[in-house]
Amino acid sequence: MPELPEVESLRRILAGSAVGRTIVAATVREPRLRRALPGDLAATIAGRAILEIGRRAKYLLIELGGDLVLIVHLGMSGSLTYRRDGFDPGPFDPRHDHVEFMLDDGARLVYNDPRRFGLIKPIGRAALADSPELRGLGPEPFAPEFDAEYLWRATRGRRTAIKTLLMDQRIVAGVGNIYASEILFRAGVRPTRRAGRVSRAEAARIAALTPAVLAEAIGDGGTTFRSYRDSRGQPGRFAERLRVYDREGRPCPVCATAIRAATVGQRSSFYCPRCQK
Ligand SMILES: [Zn+2]
Repeated sequence: MPELPEVESLRRILAGSAVGRTIVAATVREPRLRRALPGDLAATIAGRAILEIGRRAKYLLIELGGDLVLIVHLGMSGSLTYRRDGFDPGPFDPRHDHVEFMLDDGARLVYNDPRRFGLIKPIGRAALADSPELRGLGPEPFAPEFDAEYLWRATRGRRTAIKTLLMDQRIVAGVGNIYASEILFRAGVRPTRRAGRVSRAEAARIAALTPAVLAEAIGDGGTTFRSYRDSRGQPGRFAERLRVYDREGRPCPVCATAIRAATVGQRSSFYCPRCQK
């Protein structure tokens, strides 16, 4: 499932290739995503310029001319690729190319999503902040307000596991299962620990490591498990740097103790029983 680093990697590539272009036409082959696409989507966006591509949490925000924004969420298995002559469709099954935007430079932006849990939603710019998708999201992990003091206060009195809290989009936006495991390993805190039992020093470490780990993953183009590919169709390389995620039974890279798995908040979680208290 794409998390913040995957969406941000995608955003950066698309910003370089698609911003400044105009959508000359759109084709919707399969409107039934997580929510049905509006029947007039193609007509609504045809002729609009792509002014900017932003991101909030795991949402890609494609800003179009005429104050329209497309909110795009990749769901479990979605991808948005910029394709022109020479694009290698590699793992992309054309049966799952559900939506296609034709650009004025002859390239196409193609939304492919085998499991169809994704979202493409047009919304007026003025209504964006209050949309059900963005309303109520906590700060971005790179925002100055997400700091040691903020996380410390957010954890006080909370009985929920620290990993579950870190994945709560109202607390901090964009952290999912993979990166929560990696952040807590580096912070030396067990994912099962009650958030209210995290010390001030540990909260400070987690708050500092959250943007650091995510930035590292963005630099690597994200992590690929199963289907994720970036906008050029390339897999992310951060998987090679994962220290605990999906590594049950393998040696901890710090102390060589076998990595353990536990279920936290119904999600599989991985930790080193020696390095993480
Ligand atoms: Zn260890």
